[in-house]
Amino acid sequence: MGCRTHNIRTFFKHQTDFLQPAIVKVWETTQHALVSRLMELEKPLVLGGDARADSPGHTAKFGSYTLMELNVNQILDLTLIQKNEVSSSNAMELEGFKRTMKWMIETAMMADLEIDCIITDRHLQVAKWIRENLSCYHIKHYYDVWHIAKSIKKKIIALGKKKRCDAVNEWCKSIINHLHWSAASTPDGNPDMMLEKFASVANHVQNIHTGHDGELFHACVHPPLIGERPRKWLTPGSEACERLNELLLGTRLKNDVKRMSPKKQTSRIEAFHSLLNYFAPKLTIFSYEGMTCRLLLAGLHYNENSNRDPALTKSGEQLYAIDFPRAKHGDYTLREIQSQVTFGNPYLEENRNLRQEISGLVNVPPPVSSTYRKPDLEEALRRQSSRFALEESATTTDILQAGPT
Ligand SMILES: [Zn+2]
Repeated sequence: MGCRTHNIRTFFKHQTDFLQPAIVKVWETTQHALVSRLMELEKPLVLGGDARADSPGHTAKFGSYTLMELNVNQILDLTLIQKNEVSSSNAMELEGFKRTMKWMIETAMMADLEIDCIITDRHLQVAKWIRENLSCYHIKHYYDVWHIAKSIKKKIIALGKKKRCDAVNEWCKSIINHLHWSAASTPDGNPDMMLEKFASVANHVQNIHTGHDGELFHACVHPPLIGERPRKWLTPGSEACERLNELLLGTRLKNDVKRMSPKKQTSRIEAFHSLLNYFAPKLTIFSYEGMTCRLLLAGLHYNENSNRDPALTKSGEQLYAIDFPRAKHGDYTLREIQSQVTFGNPYLEENRNLRQEISGLVNVPPPVSSTYRKPDLEEALRRQSSRFALEESATTTDILQAGPT
């Protein structure tokens, strides 16, 4: 169009000199404000943490870790890890957790905040690290119930596909509901009580409702089932029943059930991670600074909108929407509609270059490619032509050898 505009170098210079430092500065300011708010509340912190792989597959360039305070539903900390900072992409979650907890413990000490518990998914390395490093702080560690439920569901569905075991399909939903109930009905999080409650379902599916093994929970708490709709009880000793019992009373699952979080769960963090997809789509690769800023922007947006008021009709009634989630196969859920999303307008007074003052943008790890050896161009060209020749001859030979079949 022949219009004059600033060139791409100027665009990126403005981004690195002004935009990115401004985002980090605003984030740090709101983070401090949140810590002050938590100090005023004087309520022990209930923390939830979860990792996100920031690109699809196992070759993620970045992983991020989100720490949320679940009583106030606000993100407290966000950490970005680049893959060359850790030994494998598998180690990203533990590294993210460590960094974010280091910040949290230091902040809690300075601000005199008490941490009651931390809820994560069932990541064994994280659990081990907490045992070894955080036991002196008396922070309880729980597993998110939804994550355990998901793994049980997968196993029951797989079992239901086996010969003579299809009867277990009927019980999948009840078992999952019972798992949630076992946690929710034990507010003090007593591990043995949660386990005994959950294990009783192995009897219940065989129409046995009293005399459950254990010290704390002896009988089902549902009313007598006389006159109820007929249920497909499993026959004791049948293959379906035996294998379902094996699955429900396995050692790993028992250990997980004992650590279920009785009150809060981490589903809000998952909601944040899907929001993050709008700010940092997984298929686009960003620079370390670019990714950090997108992460923080998403955090600012979440914190501003996570506790929105419900949307009301003119006469003051709650507005609802009916959704058909894919996972529910045609079943619907009722969703409360919330008021309009807002976009904050934080005003930054400084107009000097803030970049050097912001630690998050100074300690940038070297690019991932810096760890690779760069071949000399001529050598690379030579290798490509010889490899190409090899591939060509291989295909021709394959075709010749394969012959007509
Ligand atoms: Zn029962």
